[in-house]
Amino acid sequence: MIPHENTGFQHLGLAPKMLGLIESMKFVKPTPIQHKAIPVALEGNDIVGVAQTGTGKTMAFGIPMIQRLMSTQGKGLVLVPTRELALQVEEVLHPVAKQFQLKTVVLIGGASSYTQIKELRKNPSIIIATPGRLIDHLEQRNVQLKDVRILVLDEADRMLDMGFQPQVERILRSVPQDRQTMLFSATIPPDIVSLASRHMKLPIHVEIAPSGTAAASVTQELFIVAHDKKKDVMEMLLNQYSGAVLVFTRTKNKARSITRMLKDFGHKAAEIHSNRSMAQRKQAMNGFKSGQYRILVATDIASRGLDVTGIELVINYDLPEDIENYVHRIGRTGRAEKSGHAVSLATPDQGSDVERIEKLIRKPLPRMKHPDFVGHEFIKGARSPSRGGGRGSKPYRGGGQRSGNSRGDSRGYGKGNSRGKSSRGQRQKRSY
Ligand code: ADP
Ligand code: MG
Repeated sequence: MIPHENTGFQHLGLAPKMLGLIESMKFVKPTPIQHKAIPVALEGNDIVGVAQTGTGKTMAFGIPMIQRLMSTQGKGLVLVPTRELALQVEEVLHPVAKQFQLKTVVLIGGASSYTQIKELRKNPSIIIATPGRLIDHLEQRNVQLKDVRILVLDEADRMLDMGFQPQVERILRSVPQDRQTMLFSATIPPDIVSLASRHMKLPIHVEIAPSGTAAASVTQELFIVAHDKKKDVMEMLLNQYSGAVLVFTRTKNKARSITRMLKDFGHKAAEIHSNRSMAQRKQAMNGFKSGQYRILVATDIASRGLDVTGIELVINYDLPEDIENYVHRIGRTGRAEKSGHAVSLATPDQGSDVERIEKLIRKPLPRMKHPDFVGHEFIKGARSPSRGGGRGSKPYRGGGQRSGNSRGDSRGYGKGNSRGKSSRGQRQKRSY
């Protein structure tokens, strides 16, 4: 059961050895999602966990998964949407797993299949994989999933956004029915509800903040600016702030050209998007983390879920195509209770996109002006051609879940919806 007070890791049902390990990692207090998910997961329940990026979800499933694998003898499988995320999850889980003599393997595209096959032969207990490469290995019979006891779908909404639904379904059919499933997602659109109700056993819903809630510690501003003036605003911002900066563009070509431009201006910048090789993406990420690059230019897909701390400023050079990504993007700054800043650049025809963002975050974005030129206004009634439709903009009701049971943490996710509607205000526990 869940202890009421979030005091430490002591009362969550963890084994003494695990507690010792956590202590050695210098984690004093579980994050809210860990506090709620760990005891529920340790009991073997299926979980749907909803929390923004940066809230500590990896340990929320990783710690109970590793502890349970000690007694169930089976395998754990973690599915993630991107290669970077797979590596990041492995980075967190490997040191813990190792202490319990559990081997881990990462199965991702862009890396050698041969090496992965060699690692698979050592019979690892924890497989961390992207759906595509896992299916390749399944088809070639390099791996079999019949002893998977614990399945984690991390960043499930992203996985479906990226078109991985058929692969995910296929993998769900290849793992035993008798298993624990933990699904983590920042949002719960209808296709996730459907997936969960078809493949999970009365999942317990743990949620720490409604999706659409921007981190409270992030200041948000907006410039309405003609397209050809965006670079001037960006340059001004880069002078105004001194810390690490993450720049989002809509397309990979734009990411490339902006990175080139930044370098021409003498900035240390790197780019991360799907046209870059695995090695290049890793090099860019590591260089950004180590401070070799001050600026990282990224597209939404490449950046989702990445854990980089210490980002001072997020610049939305282009508004996101899927408006919901706005929250994910700005969640990159202001992490670990440090304050951060997010500045968005919108063109005058994007008034309706900005309105939708403001609806999602439930507050207006203050309009700023560049000193060198008069700020633009939105063109009334203009419809941006780029309006992202997004999934699940209609209210929905989920079916088949347990709701209103005795656990304080559980709620049927048919109530309200995931798109920033007012009904969710009451469900907000705390934004982390
Ligand atoms: P998410 O998967 O929700 O995006 P991560 O698991 O990547 O979040 O964790 C985000 C950051 O929080 C990481 O840098 C991680 O080391 C840190 N973190 C996780 N759990 C704790 C904790 N209990 N106390 C302090 N920091 C934590
Ligand atoms: Mg994560």
